[in-house]
Amino acid sequence: MNNFIFLGPPGAGKGSLAVKVAEAYKIPHISTGDIFRANIKAQTPLGVKVKAIIDSGSLVSDELTFELVKDRLSQDDCKNGYILDGFPRTIRQAEMLEELAADAKVVNFEIKDEIVIRRLSTRRVCKSCGANYNTLTLKPKKEGVCDKCGGELYQRDDDKQESILHRMDVYREQTEPLINFYKGKGKITNLDAAIETDVLLKEFQKIF
Ligand code: ADP
Ligand code: ZN
Repeated sequence: MNNFIFLGPPGAGKGSLAVKVAEAYKIPHISTGDIFRANIKAQTPLGVKVKAIIDSGSLVSDELTFELVKDRLSQDDCKNGYILDGFPRTIRQAEMLEELAADAKVVNFEIKDEIVIRRLSTRRVCKSCGANYNTLTLKPKKEGVCDKCGGELYQRDDDKQESILHRMDVYREQTEPLINFYKGKGKITNLDAAIETDVLLKEFQKIF
């Protein structure tokens, strides 16, 4: 079973690798951040509720987030596997997930803080399709415009300096303890996430 949990700090490249793994293994990429952002954009009741929390870089409640994930994992396309990107993010979430995904393999993205800060502050995202770019390392062909769909590129509110530092604190306090949680269960594989996504994919394919 190809059930993967991608664990690591913001800016580690979980989402970028997840897009490639999803394609290569034909399994869905489930990003709780993307789900929340889609709801914010569509101004759903959920989106309205979580917008301020997300912009500031804090976490949405465990219960609410878990319900979302539980619902998503019950859908048909998850039968042959899935990639969870950005969930779980707290011990409580991990405990709840154990009941649904005891067999999942946890991939831990290891990366230095300074690289994370540089990557996040230079990240740009397409307003229409959500594709990620970077003003230093992954420039679009035309500045400010998405290569894939022509949409407008913008900087996420939580990618502004203040929120970045807050997200890193939140990661350290609430999410990093998951490494030991999963180590104790013998489920963790570490990946050196400082390398380019295509190279990272090759590493991943060697292991899984
Ligand atoms: P990052 O780039 O930091 O990995 P994500 O796109 O995964 O960001 O998530 C953006 C925001 O969405 C988080 O800062 C948080 O507010 C909210 N969020 C995403 N996943 C979770 C989760 N599992 N639990 C609580 N909040 C979450
Ligand atoms: Zn786009």
